[in-house]
Amino acid sequence: TAGQVADIGLIGLAVMGQNLVLNMNDHGFIVCVYNRTVQKVDEFLANEARGTKIVGAHSLEEFVSKLKLPKRVMLLVKAGKPVDEFIDKLVPLLGPGDIIIDGGNSEYTDTDRRTKSLSERGILYVGSGVSGGEEGARFGPSLMPGGNQQAWPHIKDIFQNVAAKVDQQPCCDWVGSGGAGHFVKMVHNGIEYGDMQLICEAYHLLKAELKLTNEELAQVFEDWNNSELESFLIEITRDILRYKNEEGVYVLDSINDQAGQKGTGKWTVISSLEYGIPLTLISEAVFARALSALKKERMVAEKHFGGPMDEGVSKGVQVDKKEFIGHVKKALYASKIISYAQGFMLMRQVSESLQWDLNYGGIALMWRGGCIIRSKFLGEIKRAYDMNPHLMNLLVDDFFKNAVLDCQHSWRQVVSRACLSGIPVPAFSSALSFYDGYRSGWLPANLLQGLRDYFGAHTYSTLEQPDKFVHTNWTGHG
Ligand code: NAP
Repeated sequence: TAGQVADIGLIGLAVMGQNLVLNMNDHGFIVCVYNRTVQKVDEFLANEARGTKIVGAHSLEEFVSKLKLPKRVMLLVKAGKPVDEFIDKLVPLLGPGDIIIDGGNSEYTDTDRRTKSLSERGILYVGSGVSGGEEGARFGPSLMPGGNQQAWPHIKDIFQNVAAKVDQQPCCDWVGSGGAGHFVKMVHNGIEYGDMQLICEAYHLLKAELKLTNEELAQVFEDWNNSELESFLIEITRDILRYKNEEGVYVLDSINDQAGQKGTGKWTVISSLEYGIPLTLISEAVFARALSALKKERMVAEKHFGGPMDEGVSKGVQVDKKEFIGHVKKALYASKIISYAQGFMLMRQVSESLQWDLNYGGIALMWRGGCIIRSKFLGEIKRAYDMNPHLMNLLVDDFFKNAVLDCQHSWRQVVSRACLSGIPVPAFSSALSFYDGYRSGWLPANLLQGLRDYFGAHTYSTLEQPDKFVHTNWTGHG
């Protein structure tokens, strides 16, 4: 009908919503906007959206009436209760086959629940990860939609048009059913935690061990960005290291060393615990933030415990600067491979448990551009999974296998050097321990099982009969 002009409606005119709407408009889609604080609709139309084809509404009824069929409503509001509240208000205004998309950082279990309950009412629900921050939303985010697959043909065109492109391919594809889209976005954020922690450890090592200046450090990251480590986060690390304020002082050096977190890293680790996947690197990255936040305690402890650096233990050992920088680079690369291997292990386990049938190559492509973890490296992951969608583990792909084997020596040098110098490297070292555990055909869990059986009669199986469980009376005669 005449009033139904908009291809899609968007609720939530904060940073993400405004930018995504302008992006959709750039690609020729007509968007109708609404916001809880209605005044923001008029402000947006009069300012940022001036001269565009964007239309607005002052009530949800008016908003819905302006949408073409099937009605497509996208929410970009605060995750949690606001999403449920909007859904409750929208449902009576929508009909069978209409679509609600949640583009916020919702917990995937919420998305799973919403997808199921809305499908019973004939509404097609989609939970989409959106990554790339403000800039991504405006000029091309990474989009990870999942939920009710019947919605995909109706939103594919809009989503793939506004998404970032790499080699002309959109960083957006259907992820899977239920909460799959938000789950994959959550793992993306967990991996982002890991990538950042690895960069911080490399920075710490080069700063403390080699006493590199900020300019020298920036040069190292610049060099790394021209290698297999090429990525958005390495690139902006270089820029942050170089940045000086008006007085010519490095801003980085004045930043309080206490990290915050919003929860997506924590959720990733919680799900790894629930599904029994050793996501050690990302877990350490979350804990490293938690430890950093204990600044007051650390300031006290610093006075109690002198480290090897203060005691001159490592002072006698000369380190060749260039060689050590090379070692750190390889340690970072190997650890990064472990982090992604662990992330894909988690996705595989959850996908199999919840029957999502995740497309791993597609996920790597969605992360290849637009989002915070975008990198050259993800192109290799895509290639690995395209070549073998049933790859047992990323580590056994020839490319990654050879890379880790090539880095192994340097990695061990760096982790042992860090231990001797008393520099914390939780991500580098936990990645190395994982690697050494993963490549061990034998682990000391035989003793673990013996202990469990001794004190708790938990039983154990033998190497000869791994499926048969027996108990030994350990205090009787052996
Ligand atoms: P935000 O600060 O998370 O949320 C603000 C929006 O939510 C406003 O439209 C606000 O309406 C609405 N809202 C808040 N509480 C509400 C309530 N109780 N009932 C109804 N509406 C409510 O905005 P954002 O940073 O643009 O992020 C939007 C979503 O995208 C979030 O889920 C966020 O986690 C996710 N995300 C953000 C980024 C980023 O870089 N910022 C990146 C990826 C994903 P009012 O104007 O009326 O307050």
